[in-house]
Amino acid sequence: MRDKLYINGEWVAPLEGGALPVINPATEEVFHYIPAGTAPDAEVAVAAARAAFDHGPWPRMTGVDRAKILRAMAEGIRSRLPELTRLEVMDNGKPIPEAEWDLTDAAGCFDFYAGLAEELDGEVEEIALADGRFTSKAVREPLGVAVAIVPWNYPLLMASWKVAPALAVGCTMILKPAETTSLTALELGVIADEAGLPKGVLNILSGKGSIVGQALIDHPLVDKVAFTGSGPVGSRIMAAGAKDIKRISLELGGKSPFIVFADSDIEKAVEWIMFGIFWNQGQVCSATSRVLVERSLYPALLERLVAETKKIRIGDGLEPGVLLGPLVNKGQYEDVKRHIARAVEQGATVACGGKRPEGFEKGYYLEPTILTDLPLDSGAWVEEIFGPVVCIRPFDTEEEAVRLANDSRLGLAAAVMSADDERCERVAAAFRAGIVWINCSQPTFTEAPWGGYKESGIGRELGRWGLDNYLETKQITRFTGKEPWAWYLKG
Ligand code: NAD
Repeated sequence: MRDKLYINGEWVAPLEGGALPVINPATEEVFHYIPAGTAPDAEVAVAAARAAFDHGPWPRMTGVDRAKILRAMAEGIRSRLPELTRLEVMDNGKPIPEAEWDLTDAAGCFDFYAGLAEELDGEVEEIALADGRFTSKAVREPLGVAVAIVPWNYPLLMASWKVAPALAVGCTMILKPAETTSLTALELGVIADEAGLPKGVLNILSGKGSIVGQALIDHPLVDKVAFTGSGPVGSRIMAAGAKDIKRISLELGGKSPFIVFADSDIEKAVEWIMFGIFWNQGQVCSATSRVLVERSLYPALLERLVAETKKIRIGDGLEPGVLLGPLVNKGQYEDVKRHIARAVEQGATVACGGKRPEGFEKGYYLEPTILTDLPLDSGAWVEEIFGPVVCIRPFDTEEEAVRLANDSRLGLAAAVMSADDERCERVAAAFRAGIVWINCSQPTFTEAPWGGYKESGIGRELGRWGLDNYLETKQITRFTGKEPWAWYLKG
């Protein structure tokens, strides 16, 4: 486990000497200290990334050569899968199969963007101009020094979604992991070194968002901030970027709906509702936390959902067979409990869960929770809870379900289930959300665009769309006319 910052290819102690405890959410024990970077460290890291961009080889290499290093980074993650899995579980609380899944995806992300880096070589778009005296072409270039700020729910995976495309196009960068989960992000420094990434191309600064994160987003030599996290911090990043017109991409929260029509198979509906909200302890931006069920199916579905939810094995993520670990930290745990208590005050019924499971003295454990009878203006129905809490209600018509689904300031994801394909397509088209699942909820693919409508963000990550976050487009226009231009010099 690293206890230094990774700056300009070296492991260095933070200049102001601070450290932050790393707490295992399953035991509440401190098992390590990570370095707490501050503004002076941000200064050095930005200077290193700037120099590597302005004068170093990385942006000037061919995509084919960058791809070799990205593939070596993918391999570096895969070859360390057991140790990285353990770190992710102890840092975040997620069960082993989830951590393995995330880390395998993270490696796949580096492979995927290696492929796109190769395709970028020589990419030129000739532009047909109406004026035949000119020819024009568009080329794309790396936009410079990027800062990636990531949350704690998928520590290395969220970092990879930003680091892999940024490196693929030739940007240099500073990665700022969340203060509660920095261990695997710091390991990426070792992996980058071994893969042969030139010095200064990737710098990794752990530390508090309000201190080192703020110093990075305020820095005038940073060209781009790519952020995943909460809405309030996203707004702050936009405001900071407004000062010097930084490029900003934001992946923020969600309060995503899942509409289940009565012709759905009840078994499949229950499975996907559970996967949609209990995976990763519900700490998923795209979690389908508002479930709308057609009234004739509602009683039977609710009964089965409650029965299956009660069977979920809760425990320390390191224990085999566990499917629900603790929440990530004390703050998050208290927050989710507050949401549940407030929902009850506002009229909700707790169909199951809502409390600490029996037999757990320590750890931030919460039973998976199903809330019904919520008023439409209650906090739990409207606000992102970011925990294993699903709100469920019946509906009568397709029009009503779509209206309720879209009645949110957030628009990250939405899901629909029905045996009627045409209805699914109709509802998918009506959703105001960036990600739509039909007959499932949550599967995420590196090849497909990811991001939100409305207050859920700006821009798209993943797929070829993920490259656009780190590229500038340049037009190169040439005068080829036979006659002189003769505006001033008439001859
Ligand atoms: P957060 O906004 O509190 O923190 C995210 C990151 O921002 C952390 O690294 C933190 O240190 C940093 N940060 C905090 N204050 C900062 C500041 N002033 N300047 C710069 N950086 C700062 O969010 P969180 O609690 O870590 O994550 C949960 C949130 O993230 C949820 O709202 C969730 O929906 C969202 N999320 C969205 C996606 C997505 O893809 N849309 C994915 C995961 C999480």
